[in-house]
Amino acid sequence: MANKIPTRLYLSEDEMPKYWYNLRADMKEKPDPILHPGTLQPARAADLEPVFCREPVKQELDDTTRLIPIPDGIQDFYRAYRPAPLIRAYFLEKALDTPAEIYYKFEGTNTSGSHKLNSAGAQAFYAKEEGLTSLATETGAGQWGTAMAMACAFYGLGLTVYMVKVSAEQKPYRKILMETYGANLISSPSNTTEAGRKILADDPDTGGSLGCAISEAVETAVKTDRCRYVLGSVLNHVLLHQSVIGLEAKAALDKYGVKPDIIIGCAGGGSNLGGLIAPFMGEKLAGKSDTRFIAVEPASCPSFTRGRYAYDFGDTAKITPLIRMQTLGNGFIPSSNHAGGLRYHGMNSTLSKLYHDGHLEARAEVQTDVFDAAIRFMKVEGILPAPESAHAIKAAIDEALECKKTGEKKVILFGLTGTGYFDMTAYMAYNNKTMSDYVPRDEDLARGFATLPDIPQNR
Ligand SMILES: *Cc1c(COP(=O)(O)O)cnc(C)c1O
Repeated sequence: MANKIPTRLYLSEDEMPKYWYNLRADMKEKPDPILHPGTLQPARAADLEPVFCREPVKQELDDTTRLIPIPDGIQDFYRAYRPAPLIRAYFLEKALDTPAEIYYKFEGTNTSGSHKLNSAGAQAFYAKEEGLTSLATETGAGQWGTAMAMACAFYGLGLTVYMVKVSAEQKPYRKILMETYGANLISSPSNTTEAGRKILADDPDTGGSLGCAISEAVETAVKTDRCRYVLGSVLNHVLLHQSVIGLEAKAALDKYGVKPDIIIGCAGGGSNLGGLIAPFMGEKLAGKSDTRFIAVEPASCPSFTRGRYAYDFGDTAKITPLIRMQTLGNGFIPSSNHAGGLRYHGMNSTLSKLYHDGHLEARAEVQTDVFDAAIRFMKVEGILPAPESAHAIKAAIDEALECKKTGEKKVILFGLTGTGYFDMTAYMAYNNKTMSDYVPRDEDLARGFATLPDIPQNR
């Protein structure tokens, strides 16, 4: 008889991954290459190195090496807060009265409160190794900025963070936390960069956007000596670092002989989802499993479900390389009443390709339904979820309720990417019933699509 599955499926330190898994190596159909925006030719390392750190650039362009060793210096960093718990949601199963088994991988046990530290630690380590003295980045909801602030404090690097203005106003304590770790915080758009000044001149009252904060951070990195830009999602090297989520989850499930039927992740730029599903998707692409994969995005920023699969810039000022991805257009700015994070206009190129080829499903949810799910979950499982993570909870609950109807005993795994302690303004709006659901009209999306680059590849 099989052992009863414990509530926490522990891994020991020795069982932590020593390699990251590069899913692209196992994809017969590769994502399209990143293009240099001037020449429209595939970008080379030399094109990217003025902006990004050297080793991550190598990883970004590598779609053939399956396993990439995690340097000892990064494994040490990971041991401070990993392995992350894999939890059987017995209480949620009971509350839903479902025959389904529900598991979640919880990435919120570190102070930054999310999975983002997995890539922040790696990127700061490589920057230090390369002899850089500071980094520049942007943050939306604040988790990436906090993760970078922690990583830069650990490795002894300076950090400038451009924080989207509406978020800085909604989350003052996030800002203070980053400053406490030693980061220099600037609300974006700001007058410290050309990109920011231009956006302010066009629209002085804008609440800002991730795309615009990215432009400011990239400009600062390029203009500052021994400084580079770091990004917390969207790019393939970030997904590579996040593969520790899926590798740990798979190692723990394998120990107990559990095979997931459905794997669910929330999707902003795609890093947690890409990391969680990577080893499982590799098996599926090799014909060894039938697992379904579901991306959950906010209805207010629906890059999978209503976006175009096209080459686009990663930022509003159109200075980054071009990436072929599911996108709403670099000029798309989500409604400021959207409290749930996940507000980036585009989606990682590997996930976009998998979606395009039918290996990955996607659905969009409105935020009041997402918060309903968050509260249902926290009342029985005890963890206050980040609003972003709650998108995955919503879909996991829906799938479990579907099993209740059909009587199927499916195994559901979802990513609980972080905690929501800094999201009290959003929870307050939910409690006060002042939270509203915004779904962009086709006309609103058309304005974003109009900002897609007019290049032969997009015609
Ligand atoms: C940033 C973030 C996300 C979304 O980012 P992805 O790159 O799509 O994973 C999800 N959950 C939390 C808690 C986050 O901080």
